Amino acid sequence: MTQTQAPVRGGQFLTSAATPDEVFIREDLTDEQRLFGQTAAEFMQKEVLPVVQRLYEHDWTLTRRLLKRAADLDLLRLEVPPAYGGLGLDLISASYVGEQIAINPSFGGSLGAHTSIGTLPLVYFGNDEQKARYLPRLSNGELVAAYALTETQSGSDALAARTAATLTPDGRHYLLNGQKMWITNGGFADLFTIFAKVDGEKFTAFLVERGMGVVSGRDETKLGLDGSSTTALTLDNVKVPVENVLGTIGQGHRVAFNILNLGRVKLGARNMSGVRMALNHSVKYARERRQFGKAIAEFGLIKQKLAGMAIRGFVGDAMSYRALGDVDRALDSGDRADGPLVLKTIEGFSVECSINKVWTSEALAWAVDEGVQVFGGNGYSREFPLERMYRDARITRIYEGTNEINRMLVPTRLLKQQPHLFTAERARAALAAQSPVPSPQSLLSAEREYVARLKRLAIALLGHASATYGDGLKEEQEVLAQIADIVIETYATESALARAEKMAARGDGRASLATDIAQAYTNEAADRVAVATRQVVAALNTRGADPSFAAGVWRLTAHAGVDGIAALRRIANAVIEAGKYPL
Ligand SMILES: Cc1cc2nc3c(=O)[nH]c(=O)nc-3n(C[C@H](O)[C@H](O)[C@H](O)COP(=O)(O)OP(=O)(O)OC[C@H]3O[C@@H](n4cnc5c(N)ncnc54)[C@H](O)[C@@H]3O)c2cc1C
Repeated sequence: MTQTQAPVRGGQFLTSAATPDEVFIREDLTDEQRLFGQTAAEFMQKEVLPVVQRLYEHDWTLTRRLLKRAADLDLLRLEVPPAYGGLGLDLISASYVGEQIAINPSFGGSLGAHTSIGTLPLVYFGNDEQKARYLPRLSNGELVAAYALTETQSGSDALAARTAATLTPDGRHYLLNGQKMWITNGGFADLFTIFAKVDGEKFTAFLVERGMGVVSGRDETKLGLDGSSTTALTLDNVKVPVENVLGTIGQGHRVAFNILNLGRVKLGARNMSGVRMALNHSVKYARERRQFGKAIAEFGLIKQKLAGMAIRGFVGDAMSYRALGDVDRALDSGDRADGPLVLKTIEGFSVECSINKVWTSEALAWAVDEGVQVFGGNGYSREFPLERMYRDARITRIYEGTNEINRMLVPTRLLKQQPHLFTAERARAALAAQSPVPSPQSLLSAEREYVARLKRLAIALLGHASATYGDGLKEEQEVLAQIADIVIETYATESALARAEKMAARGDGRASLATDIAQAYTNEAADRVAVATRQVVAALNTRGADPSFAAGVWRLTAHAGVDGIAALRRIANAVIEAGKYPL
């Protein structure tokens, strides 16, 4: 990390403006970070993509060999501390590498499950002896890791797990009994982080070697990710030494939830890799495919799709790298070797993690869906790339916490982190406050002024909803989800503006395209915010809210915007001219 600004605290984005010099953008990647990415990209192009068909046929020996090869290139040790054979790199570097690996989501899933949810529980919760025993062998690809939380009866409600851990009479082992579901790398992993309840109640993580008695089920027949192994695990008196308890007995939820946060902060960059790929395939096809005597890329409605993908690629990168930069900067201000401090810091950014998870997975869904449409009938064919991309993308809205769960986390976490901010009094103050006068110097000043109002809108709506429903608010999921969407759009829009402004300030040749994208996105966001606001206000009115509240709220949602049709055409033309994602 080369940033020198003061660290940003998690959840702070609603109360302070992100200035361009403060946010990390993809264009800020250092040569060293790019070099790791290049190594990963070449590995994928030269060694994985040529043999990927064999992965789709479940050749897991090949998956293991490729993982070993990735280890030889240092790609499995990026986040492992140097004391245990790792490189101890920052999150930005790890995410940028993840972005390259994600060009094949199946192999990306295997590698990601190993390096992230498979290895990081040990990095952050293991004791010295456990780390010394396993981390060097996980880093060099000798062992493959997996993470087993989900069960048939407990998915989103992970703490309802039924797998039991019983101490043997001699006090030296736990016997694990139960079944896990949907475990990535389940068919061939050697080391599992398995969650089970000691004495039927103390939710606990265990490090379990396959040789201790883990039995894998058959590979699931899935919608997508055909080239990654997903199986159930049967645990029938699996004998785990007490030394293999990971962390503290009864504190397994800390392992589970912190590892999910760590995964989510990096997920955005991977999803954006998919958006860029969908666009690259789509624009190539649209330039070649001719109907009615011209390339389909010349039709306005196809241009709209290409522009929409480029916008999502730009905005999603802006959000992901902003969050990664903020977390890395916060981590740099402490000791990265201090596991509990690292986790506490990342937990502080849990709202940003959930925002990125929801937004980028839905942007990817939109991009692959419209990509299929650009390909027409060929989009539906296995002979063309979009069909697989469409199937592979679907999981991103389900795993790492479903989007429903993450949507709920956005407002509920905000309320927990900053209860003083979301009160009836602060809601009234947010409505009454004056907007800053737009600076005529910036092309994006109208958008900046709108985002400042959006923040007040989010504070006003959540504060008012909290005062209206009291403790019952958590049962009003539909209201919470609309407020979550307003918060998400606030973060997305501001991130896009800051990235475009930063590019303009440094004279980047693509700055005017970035400005078009930021303005076009603000237009779209304003439409969605208006719809969400109408629904929340109507629900609050039904509960007898003060009518002046509604009037005040509408003042905050107005955004004149730019000519969106013209902006999208310019963006699409830039894509068509470049023949690929142009940023
Ligand atoms: C390909 C693949 C790989 C996976 N890899 C792993 C892995 O390596 N390790 C692992 O442990 N797990 C893994 N999973 C499991 C995955 O994390 C779960 O599928 C996910 O957490 C959802 O749980 P569930 O399937 O039980 O759905 P459920 O929890 O039953 O949810 C069903 C629906 O109900 C909704 N819902 C549930 N609760 C609420 C609520 N409170 N409010 C509103 N809506 C709600 C959900 O959002 C969803 O739409 C994987 C799954 C797949 C498909």
